[in-house]
Amino acid sequence: MNLHDVLITPGARRSFRQELSPERLDHPSVLSFLSLPVGEGEIENTAGVLTLHGSIRSLLRCRCDRCAGEFDRPVDIPLEVTLAAELEDEESPDFYLLEGDELDLEDLLETSFILETDTRFLCREDCTGLCPRCGADLTLGPCGCKKEKDPRLAVLEQLLDDKD
Ligand SMILES: [Zn+2]
Ligand SMILES: [Zn+2]
Repeated sequence: MNLHDVLITPGARRSFRQELSPERLDHPSVLSFLSLPVGEGEIENTAGVLTLHGSIRSLLRCRCDRCAGEFDRPVDIPLEVTLAAELEDEESPDFYLLEGDELDLEDLLETSFILETDTRFLCREDCTGLCPRCGADLTLGPCGCKKEKDPRLAVLEQLLDDKD
């Protein structure tokens, strides 16, 4: 995307809409994209500083990292990025480097998407996962396997008992 006009005109704006290609967003916990990720927003020149704001939206069909159950995860990633000709902090996701007048919008959006999805994929926050013994889904209730006591915990309990 060439930003020459926006770069030289304080107050100028340019809106964008970019679909991301799912092949490049490969993630082991994402089974499919129910709606393709789309980045939408605006690039604005505020007193000579370019900022990009908008969001990336998508709907993912995922596999839970704990119980392996399938679930849908809506994604709405806010974008607030300063577009800079030089970077002081290469690691910061709040800044993105321009190549002259050119912005690699697809790369910027892909990077934001990948950073945002670099988390655990859980069907629910308190998913307890599967019993390591019988494989039952513990979210649905206890499975009946006898709980094995952690030996360290047993020692601690003993210490607490002695205190009383
Ligand atoms: Zn789960
Ligand atoms: Zn069990």
